[in-house]
Amino acid sequence: RVSWAHVRPAPPDPILGLNEAYLADTDKRKINLSVGAYRDNQGQPWVLPSVRRAEELRLQNEDRHHEYNPITGKNDFVRNAVALAYGEDLCAARHIAAAQSLSGTGALRVAAEWLHLYFKGNPVVYLPQPTWSNHPAIFHKAGLQTRTYRYFDTRTKGLDLKGMLEDLDHAEPMSIVLLHACAHNPTGVDPSRDEWGEILEVINHWQHLVVFDMAYQGFATGSVERDAWPVREFVRAGHQVMLAQSFAKNMGLYGQRVGCFSMICQSEEERGACESQLKKIIRAMYSSPPGFGSEIAGTILADSNLKAQWFKELEEMSGRINSMRMQLYTLLKDKHHLDWPHVKQQIGMFAYTGLGAGHCQKLAADYHIYLTLDGRISIAGLNDSNIEYVADSFAAVAK
Ligand code: PMP
Repeated sequence: RVSWAHVRPAPPDPILGLNEAYLADTDKRKINLSVGAYRDNQGQPWVLPSVRRAEELRLQNEDRHHEYNPITGKNDFVRNAVALAYGEDLCAARHIAAAQSLSGTGALRVAAEWLHLYFKGNPVVYLPQPTWSNHPAIFHKAGLQTRTYRYFDTRTKGLDLKGMLEDLDHAEPMSIVLLHACAHNPTGVDPSRDEWGEILEVINHWQHLVVFDMAYQGFATGSVERDAWPVREFVRAGHQVMLAQSFAKNMGLYGQRVGCFSMICQSEEERGACESQLKKIIRAMYSSPPGFGSEIAGTILADSNLKAQWFKELEEMSGRINSMRMQLYTLLKDKHHLDWPHVKQQIGMFAYTGLGAGHCQKLAADYHIYLTLDGRISIAGLNDSNIEYVADSFAAVAK
């Protein structure tokens, strides 16, 4: 007889569990700083006007249908997504195999499967410590082992470059190294261009394979070009990187699951072979990607006016986040004499405050402010109406 009696409940997801606690809280002051999704200055989700416009255009299209997508997604979307990441020049100069993916997570999952099947080096993925909490599980699911390299310096609350270089230097040659392209989650700490240069050198020396996770292109600095610089720099240096792109944050298409997986190959022949094997991997996992979200993203990327509008909206989102970051720093310093320079030095959607698990629990229980127990806050959850209350509460628990 079939029985599932041996199945024990899985531990709740740390972030989604917090969201449930937030929803159940009836206090009017409650604030959710745990979920990494953009909110406007009224605390509301924002549908980008460029996305709205692209939606309208799609719906007006007489030829629209609900046929299957090709296994690797719509060609135009994939070509434009890849060009956004690498830039037109590198796209012309390299042989890039690519496929539309189920957002960033799906791209990483395809990468993991690919590496498990075809990577001939050391099948161990080095992840930054700390990293996005889903990374280890994604690679384990494909049968790969993961290890960590030092990344965050708890003393300076900045990059532990020395530790990182040492760990990458001691990894077995031809290992797999996952790098966050920009706006590192959860720390908000990105290497400078000089530091990237040193990282590149060690990786070059040991011939490690790099998997770039770029979930926040345009979110760090407001510029898709600047944020993609590390990826392009590695490719210019001759690396055959793999790349996971997501349009969840930068287009606000979270639930539409729009992303792209790509990998640099050495020849057209190799690209063709790799793409045909990618199709086989995808066919068995989910057959083909969904349509509507990638049509929206594809419409924006293909239309120069809409694309220009989207770039402005990206600046608006990253600008609002940055302004909240500065205000939080200033409030803590001027009103509460707490000097937290890391809050203003970090970049992207998150700040890694340095608050401990006990502080975070107290913030939820006594102040109705929800953040992950590692002290990470989503800056996008701050706005003109709640920032002072948040600063006051942080100061109250931190002192
Ligand atoms: N990588 C990182 C570093 C992330 O922060 C996220 C989103 N939290 C993802 C990948 C994947 O997001 P999605 O699958 O929604 O694109």
